[in-house]
Amino acid sequence: MRHLYFLIALAPGLALAAAVSAPQGDLPLTAPVPGGIAIVCVGRAPGPAPQVVFDGQRVLVARVGDVWHAVVGLRLALRPGAHELSVLDGETSARTIRFEVGTRDYETQHLVLDPRQVEPSPRNLRRIAREQESLKRAFSTFSDAAPESLGFDLPSEGRVSSSFGLRRFLNNEPRQPHSGLDIAAPAGTPITAPAPAYVLETGDYFFNGRTVVLDHGQGMITMYNHLSQVDVAKGARVARGERIGAVGQTGRVTGPHLHWSVSLNNARVDPALFLSSDVRKQDAAGLRPAALGGAPAESAPVRCSE
Ligand SMILES: [Zn+2]
Repeated sequence: MRHLYFLIALAPGLALAAAVSAPQGDLPLTAPVPGGIAIVCVGRAPGPAPQVVFDGQRVLVARVGDVWHAVVGLRLALRPGAHELSVLDGETSARTIRFEVGTRDYETQHLVLDPRQVEPSPRNLRRIAREQESLKRAFSTFSDAAPESLGFDLPSEGRVSSSFGLRRFLNNEPRQPHSGLDIAAPAGTPITAPAPAYVLETGDYFFNGRTVVLDHGQGMITMYNHLSQVDVAKGARVARGERIGAVGQTGRVTGPHLHWSVSLNNARVDPALFLSSDVRKQDAAGLRPAALGGAPAESAPVRCSE
């Protein structure tokens, strides 16, 4: 009798762990452009979640109702046009699903910085290379556990000072486009986890300053830069709203702010696409996704013929 009791007690937990079963409102906004995300129907439940690969990286698959959706991060440098997902159902051979990526012209921003920061010394270049390797590893992480939530709270109070995707020039030299969202706030302002996660990495980096990287599951990784202090340790579990650090101006910055990056399948995408409907209701101009051209947030329905 005892064994039977344990089986019954375990069954609901197992079912819950199998997949994200998010209400429609919890899916991020669709913005199939570079720096945005494509949401592509890849199958029907109750069949098992298919495995999806894009650009050599595993892709997050979320269940909404009876539909499996691939939530595909599209990096800023991705070429517009037709792209393909590779989809694997169980042990059978892979099929491909095509989807279209449109164009988006992000705004241009000119910055003036101390030339010593723009042209790092050979010693600092070696340090930067090591740090980029370690961040690349972090962003390429794919843990099998599905995220508990695909909707984010704002990780800090403050004003959006630089939106995602800005095409940047430092002292008139073209540099990497802005890969996150900046929230300006006084040093010491608390930074909290926008959704449940594990602490994947912490460190003090040349460009990024004091940093926390969170793993939300299935390749959904978020990063917090320029902190005055880090309040969590690598490997710790953090709940939504739990403090992870404080706003500062460490690394390459002109003033205290939080640089917040969101990554899916190793592609940095517009964090504003993931803000929960409660945050979106505030409708502040800075919270409107740049990947949607700054228009009031609305998501196109996902067609599914699977
Ligand atoms: Zn930034």
